[in-house]
Amino acid sequence: MHELTVARRLVDRAVATARDHDADRIDALTVRIGAATHVVPDQIAFCIETIAEGTPAEDATVRFERVPARGECACGWAGELDTLADTVAGAPDRRCPECGGGVTLTAGTECGLTRIETPDPRDTHP
Ligand SMILES: [Zn+2]
Repeated sequence: MHELTVARRLVDRAVATARDHDADRIDALTVRIGAATHVVPDQIAFCIETIAEGTPAEDATVRFERVPARGECACGWAGELDTLADTVAGAPDRRCPECGGGVTLTAGTECGLTRIETPDPRDTHP
């Protein structure tokens, strides 16, 4: 359900961007996903394909940019958080490895459209 909501937002954004550029077709879209979002790229891609039917984003290739989760702690520790194992366990562990305190996420919660590719207008309109 979560993936479907995210996918719909991405497709809406891609279609609006294409419209802004007078493009009636989208060849590919690039989506940035942070590891801490626990969003599954395969599911997003599937949802996008379904939602994009009948829109300019139909048949677009979906690419992903993964952003690792990073955090920092009041004790001075800062680093990458291993969220893959946490995803499997279903309980995100945001504990500092140095002092065991709570870690503030500084990266990894990104989830958005970074780029769309459209047919080159110079090719279609010489
Ligand atoms: Zn700490």
